[in-house]
Formats: sequence, C-alpha cells, structure tokens
Amino acid sequence: METLNLLLFVIEAVGYFTLMVTLLHFRYRLGLGMFLTALGVMHFMETYLAAVFYVSVPFGIVSPGSSIFFAGKLMMILMLYLQEDAAVVRQPIYGLFLGNLLTVGVAWLLQWHSPVALSPGRAPNFDFLREMGWLMVWGTALLYLDSIGIILLYERLGRYFKHKVILRFMICGFALLTFDQIGFFGALYYFAGVPADAFWGGWKAKMLAVCIYTALFAIYEIGIRRGAVAASARPISDIFSDLTFRERYHDLLSRTGRDVLTGLYDRARMEFEAPTMIRESLRQGQPVTVVILDADHFKDVNDHFGHLQGDEVLKAIAARLGTILRASDRMFRFGGEEFVAICPATDHAEGLRLAERLRWTIASSVSTPDGKPVTVSVGVATADEDGIGFTTVLSAADERLYQAKKIGRNCVVGRPEVAVVG
Ligand code: GH3
Ligand code: MG
Ligand code: MG
Repeated sequence: METLNLLLFVIEAVGYFTLMVTLLHFRYRLGLGMFLTALGVMHFMETYLAAVFYVSVPFGIVSPGSSIFFAGKLMMILMLYLQEDAAVVRQPIYGLFLGNLLTVGVAWLLQWHSPVALSPGRAPNFDFLREMGWLMVWGTALLYLDSIGIILLYERLGRYFKHKVILRFMICGFALLTFDQIGFFGALYYFAGVPADAFWGGWKAKMLAVCIYTALFAIYEIGIRRGAVAASARPISDIFSDLTFRERYHDLLSRTGRDVLTGLYDRARMEFEAPTMIRESLRQGQPVTVVILDADHFKDVNDHFGHLQGDEVLKAIAARLGTILRASDRMFRFGGEEFVAICPATDHAEGLRLAERLRWTIASSVSTPDGKPVTVSVGVATADEDGIGFTTVLSAADERLYQAKKIGRNCVVGRPEVAVVG
C-alpha cells in the first residue's frame, strides 16, 4: 500500500510538472494567462489536500497537496522568473494572495445565507470553508516570502556558479521548501490539529519532490530549451538562455560602452564613470590621478603602413596598457590614439611612476611593422591638487600632454615641481 502511494506520488509530481512546463514553454503561443490560470486552479486543490488529504508512504505520512503541488508551484514561480522577469512573476504571487483574501471574505459572507440542503448529508460546511480560507491566506503569505526568497537565493548563487542552473535550481528548492515546511506545518499543527510526525514525512516528501522536479528541469533545460536555442542558431542566446533577467542586464552593461577596436571602455563610459570614481576617492580622503596618453607621430604610422596596420598598433598599445594597470584603475579610449587612465587612491608622485611605467612599456614592447618603436607622450594631473572636478583635472593633464609633445615626445609631464622626463 505504501509503495503504491509512493508510486502515485511520483506520477502526480511528473504529471504536474510536465503539464505546467508545457504551458510555460508555449506561453507565447498560448498566452501566459493559460499557465497562470492553471497555476491558480491547482492552488485551490493544493490547499484543500493539505488540509485533509494525507497518505502513508514508506518514509512517513504525507499530503500530495503541499509536497507535490505547493512545492511544484514554487518551482514554477522560479522557472517563470528565469524565463521572464520580476515584473511578470509578481503577477501570480499577488494574484494568488488577493484571490485567497477574497475567498476568506466570501466564505464569511456566505454563512449569512440560509442554504437549502438538496439531499441529506450535503449541507455546506462553513467552518471547514473558513478554516481552509485562512490556511490559504497563510499559505500564500508564506508563498510570498518563499517566492522572494527563492529568487534572491537563485540570484545570490549566481555569484558562485552562474552557469550551473540546475544545481542552483536544486539548492533553491531544498532551502526554500525546508523554510516553507517549518512555516506551513506550524500553522497546520496549531490550527488544523495535524499531528507532529507529519512534519518529517512532509519534509522528506518535499525534498523528494525537489529531486523529481530538478531531474525534470534538467531534461527540459538541456534536452528541450537548449536544443531549441541551437536550432535557432542565434549565438547570443547561447549565453543568454541560462541567465536571469538581471544577469542578462549586467552582462549587457559590461559589454556596452566598450570601444570595438581596442576593447577598452569608450569615451561615453568615461564621461559616465570618471566623475564618480573621482568623487568617491576624494570622499574617502584619497587623491586620484588622471593620466592621458597620446601616441607620437601616429599619422606617420598610418601614412606608411595604412590604417589597418595602424589599427593593429593601437590594439597593441591598448593591450600593453591594460597589463600595467592595477585592479582599481580604469583605462578608457579617449579618442583616436589617445587614452585616459583614472587611478583612484594614487597621489601625484605615485601617478607619475605609474605613467612612466606605462610610457616605458609601450616604448619597449610596441613597434611598427618595420620594427621601429612606437612611443607615447603622457600628461599627469591629480585631484585635489589640480582641481576636484573631472574636467578640470583632465584639462590640467591634457595641458601637460601638450608640453610633453613640445619638449620632444616619449616623455611624462606632471606638476612643474615634480616633472619626470623619460
Ligand atoms: P603627435 O605626436 O603630435 O600626436 O602626432 P600624431 O601624428 O599622432 O598627431 P595627431 O594626434 O594629430 O594624429 C592622430 C592620428 O591618429 C590621426 C589619425 O589618422 C590617427 N588615428 C586616429 N584614430 C585612429 C584609428 O582608430 N585607427 C588608425 N589606424 N588611426 C587612427
Ligand atoms: Mg598623436
Ligand atoms: Mg592625438
């Protein structure tokens, strides 16, 4: 008997998950309403079962209502979030909660009717209806917390293993359904008189359901979703398909504002980030150094070897510059063959040393196709001695760059009293 119950349990879980995922998968063709309505209807069933329907399986007494359908609904909410975003997943969460409050209100009103008994023994049981209503409200209040929790945890786990979506799915299921079991069972125990040993049975059943759902999720993700992505031959979706909306947004953000030739951040990004970097550093009482570099006689490189070769030299310069900077520094491509580095927590003397290292590295490792060294001239200015606004400091650095060009190029110029000439 217990084995049959367990078998039925597994069939119910597989059936529920398969149907719901099918509706979710085809939501653009069928309309999202179909998925959401089915979720809501199953919710009523689930609460009813959790209140009265318990069966014995080899590891304890369980209710398919909470172990299969509630657990399944929470995993569905996570899946909806993964495929859509927070604005969409909010809809069923609030909808279920408000619908349940309405159920309680209606149950309360109904009791003022004098119902007619159509046949003996079929009189409405208002106490049960009300009790179930409150169980639903408590269940969805918990669902609200569970849903927020499962989404936050899923996002947080992304920091450690971003592309292991199946593992993230499983850990989220285990963690949040354990939390939920404690909360929901507490209410059943105190208000519905469900015996205490049903707690462990229910918990194990939820964990079993998570295992089943994770296996089905893995089949869906790997077998169906990625297969569809591969068939559509859009390479970008390879990266995007297993990221959440937030992760996609950050991914996109990290790739925008990049200069296509050198891969450095571009000028627009500089205008956006540099003022903040300077302000932040100054706020912490630290000076910030701005370094501007301009390739020497770059027109000649283009004239002799053509623009494409010139581009290669620019790429080489950018790549070399990137290796010298520290993690907190930021390098931008300011214009054609001009680059700007923002170095927080760096005073003028240290900034000059860094600039000299940049100049030396380029001169000794970048060359034109015929082997002549490529050099850069460098201007250095520091906030707050040279001003506190980004534009002011950049102009000071630019003026010194101009001086560096004037005194013969391939050199670094800083504040007059601390000039370093290479
Ligand atoms: P100076 O030492 O005075 O800086 O001499 P310069 O020849 O470098 O003079 P200037 O800064 O006026 O000229 C910059 C040249 O850089 C002109 C332009 O053709 C070239 N340049 C700008 N952007 C690119 C680019 O993206 N690719 C290539 N190949 N050349 C570029
Ligand atoms: Mg130049
Ligand atoms: Mg220039």
